[in-house]
Amino acid sequence: MVSNGSKTAFRHVPSRPVANRQPVKVDVFGLVIRNLGLLQLSPIFPYTHDGAIVPCMTNTTGVRGVTPWHFFHDNEVKETIVCLVENGGAMKSGQIMLLANNHGVGPFLRDPQDPSNYYVGLITIRMGNRPEQTEGIVLRCHKCNEVVYARYFNVKEGPARKHYPEFYALRYYLESFREFNRNPELRICKKCGAARPPEPEAENFGYVQYTRNIDVANRGREAFELMAAKLAKPADGASESAQR
Ligand SMILES: [Zn+2]
Repeated sequence: MVSNGSKTAFRHVPSRPVANRQPVKVDVFGLVIRNLGLLQLSPIFPYTHDGAIVPCMTNTTGVRGVTPWHFFHDNEVKETIVCLVENGGAMKSGQIMLLANNHGVGPFLRDPQDPSNYYVGLITIRMGNRPEQTEGIVLRCHKCNEVVYARYFNVKEGPARKHYPEFYALRYYLESFREFNRNPELRICKKCGAARPPEPEAENFGYVQYTRNIDVANRGREAFELMAAKLAKPADGASESAQR
């Protein structure tokens, strides 16, 4: 902590906008339209650098027939969640919570199978200043609560992205769930022998589509720029004839 006049301020809170980053205003409800699916967790500002405070939008809608999910998310940095608005939500509109480092993640809806229910909230995380930041997915036995599966990952690490930075945590959620789902042995509880059912990795879930689309966005932009550069460069002889 540093002293800022008579008040005490945390070092990660800038006293004014950083010179090379423009203040940005977003319409969170407009972003809901572009949100790809359940558990999406989309940063609402284009800033996810080291030291950034990253508010991420999350929205859930009831889906008929969906299997309600529950897992634990372990994060070395604290997260807050604020419910902006809901219908049939597990939190009420305007409610804010400071989450424990290891906290449960579910649909945030009292009845996740009722399509009239929805939840729009912001989960705010902080990117630390170190090159490593550990998060984990922890799955517990539905019968005896023993940890059945846990995987930890560095959310600062992932495929290099030239144009649009990737919010890597979602990739690791998906990888963890796929690893768990593909191997029946991983799903058996060592304590009581019960099998935990596979985790959702269907198209309804935003992390599935995000992990695919971030790749398309970067590859597409790269191909487009190459094409534009080729067009901007006059073909042999073209510049000569243009001068005549
Ligand atoms: Zn068990």
